Amino acid sequence: AAAVAMAEQVVADLREKCETPAALLREVASSMAHEMGAGLEKEGGSRVKMLLSYVDKLPTGREEGLFYGLDLGGTNFRVLRVQLGGNEKHVVNRESREVSIPPQLMSGSSSDLFGFIASELAKFVADEEKCDNISNGKKRELGFTFSFPVKQRSVASGTLVKWTKAFSIDDAVGEDVVAELQTAMEKQGLDMHVAALINDAVGTLAGARYYDKDVVAGVIFGTGTNAAYVEKANAIPKWEGELPNSGDMVINMEWGNFCSSHLPVTEYDQELDEESLNPGEQIYEKLMSGMYLGEIVRRVLLKISLHSSIFGNIDHTKLKTHFVLRTPHISAMHHDETPDLKIVAEKLEENLEITSTSLETRKLVVEVCDIVARRAARLAAAGLAGILKRLGRDCNAQEQRSVIAIDGGLFEHYTKFHECLESTLGELLGEEASKSVAVKHADDGSGIGAALIAASQSQYR
Ligand code: ADP
Ligand code: MG
Repeated sequence: AAAVAMAEQVVADLREKCETPAALLREVASSMAHEMGAGLEKEGGSRVKMLLSYVDKLPTGREEGLFYGLDLGGTNFRVLRVQLGGNEKHVVNRESREVSIPPQLMSGSSSDLFGFIASELAKFVADEEKCDNISNGKKRELGFTFSFPVKQRSVASGTLVKWTKAFSIDDAVGEDVVAELQTAMEKQGLDMHVAALINDAVGTLAGARYYDKDVVAGVIFGTGTNAAYVEKANAIPKWEGELPNSGDMVINMEWGNFCSSHLPVTEYDQELDEESLNPGEQIYEKLMSGMYLGEIVRRVLLKISLHSSIFGNIDHTKLKTHFVLRTPHISAMHHDETPDLKIVAEKLEENLEITSTSLETRKLVVEVCDIVARRAARLAAAGLAGILKRLGRDCNAQEQRSVIAIDGGLFEHYTKFHECLESTLGELLGEEASKSVAVKHADDGSGIGAALIAASQSQYR
């Protein structure tokens, strides 16, 4: 009984420290909107970098032809080919292939990573040639979704600012990622032109806008998190170049690096950050993206185990191993509806070597998942509210509809995260304003989006 009380105390402390009442979330939203302005004001004006994407026109539905997309996220990468029908016929044909990135390539050399990507792409293209030559002798056009912070110089070039998530390849930082890819493709004898370099948030925005002109932002909740939205070009003081004809510019926020004193950061988050590949950075991302939620829960369970005996007399090796508990595992436990929480018992045993738990203990584990995931979803909703605030679309019922397109494995598969995010956004906007705001899942926006932007940039458009 004493053990249970100790464990319950750890969870009660966690619950208290992770609280996100609406008042706190409104502060977070205001702070996000403020940082957005500061980041647009001048280079280095905010931790939220507000990078120019050089995408000044989004796809319209009139694009036509065959285009390729390449999507390098955090865990997988995907190659795809789309045939665009033009005249609102949209995507008439698409094929894609997903490949997981061998972990050793995430911290190897730049040429190894890009070499691997180019060789997978070459295989994919070779399959096309076996069918028939649909490219009509034109040079193939590729859109490259590269979901790490890049300082762009044009829509098809940019240097890597830093790695995030599980990547750490020193010799790539500061280099032009398009040039690296282009070189690797040449080595493979692949004749292809990189027409656009974007990230997944920009791709999601473009992919969703292609079907719905009311889409104002694209947001990712996957391995990491990020957001992109359409800004008025004349509202970007730091921009020195010529203003685009469209008057618009897509901004890649890099909001994962957002930080605010209002964020409910616990001891677990602090330790996770200190022991991470990028201490002090990506604080918002570390509170709410798929790479980290399981790891936060693991740290809480370890503390529970060290302070009580509710998991029995176990070997702590597994429980002490960073990242053994993944977000899909906590999602499975969190959604366990079996009367005796059988799935929780299974996941604890498989991943942490915690055998024989009582139902009471398993309920406590579910509660930890709930606290961590709910905090994440509520903070995510506050970020969305911050963007809507910046756009002046956060209050009263607007004439205009505002659609936020969201993609990423966390949003797609973690139902409770998804539901909590949507209900919290409603809570923050209020009933009236909520009527004109919609959140929509943009399935595989990021890969298609790259091909679409390549299409709208291409000389063959
Ligand atoms: P990336 O961010 O690498 O482009 P995804 O958007 O596919 O990739 O997101 C992958 C992430 O989504 C994983 O790292 C994981 O954290 C999360 N995820 C995948 N499946 C699930 C699931 N069933 N439940 C919760 N989270 C999941
Ligand atoms: Mg992705």
